Amino acid sequence: MPSSSGNICCSCRRWWGELCSLRDSPDPDRISGCEVSVIKARWGIDGGPVLAMGAFPVSSFHGGGRVTCVFVVTMQTAGRHSKTLLQVTLAVIKPDAVAHPLILQAVHQKILDNGFIIVMHKYLKWSQEESQRFYAEHSDRFFYQRVVEFMASGPMRAYILAQHDAVTRWRQLMGPTRVFRARFSAPYSIRGHLGLTDTRNTTHGSDSPESAAREITFFFPEFDQRRWWSTEEQLYRQGHYYYHPLQQQHLLQNPQTPLAEGQMH
Ligand code: ADP
Ligand code: MG
Repeated sequence: MPSSSGNICCSCRRWWGELCSLRDSPDPDRISGCEVSVIKARWGIDGGPVLAMGAFPVSSFHGGGRVTCVFVVTMQTAGRHSKTLLQVTLAVIKPDAVAHPLILQAVHQKILDNGFIIVMHKYLKWSQEESQRFYAEHSDRFFYQRVVEFMASGPMRAYILAQHDAVTRWRQLMGPTRVFRARFSAPYSIRGHLGLTDTRNTTHGSDSPESAAREITFFFPEFDQRRWWSTEEQLYRQGHYYYHPLQQQHLLQNPQTPLAEGQMH
């Protein structure tokens, strides 16, 4: 966590707060000032157990006079606490798998074993109409009616998953779309291992970050993506979360409070 020292005047405090909230912005032009870009350049460095930074002065006008505050910044990056933004994806355990508790549990465990953060999850059942809307892009394909009926045939479990490169990682873990191929080319993938047919292929995953944002809204209209990115992403990325076995998801924990005994990521 960055820390600052020195006698910070209120305008610098505001500047500092803004810097803290923007420091991982992918667009460096959103903030101006050479001090800020120097910091961003350094904060952009990924990995390494501890990176310490020097002091830097920031001048501002305060109460009619010019005030210079000195900030001392240290940065800690321990292992996976990377400076690269997390990515979110939509994952769905389809009705064929939800119908079998052991398979459902096996897929859930694979999510955990592969380092995904479970931001939210829920069970839901689609109407035919919802299923048609979701798969509209395939409406001219021979399997459209089949997949629409299958997806409306029983309960599903949907997840918002976060991790670095979550979209690609989840798709890799799922394996190829067609189960009869996946069994040969990716036998240890979810679909290769647990899929029943090319249609009943156990799981869904968004195919790009843009699809993920759209599909998350489709499944979780109550999830405030803007808020998550501005306030929670950073806390998850820095490791301030733990797995809650009863709720079967990861919850944020106060950054000042270490994990209690028995709590784990
Ligand atoms: P993916 O789910 O891997 O993104 P698609 O978007 O191409 O794959 O297809 C959506 C869903 O339609 C698949 O997950 C599967 O349930 C079904 N599907 C796709 N291709 C076929 C096929 N050739 N035969 C039967 N069902 C298919
Ligand atoms: Mg698809």
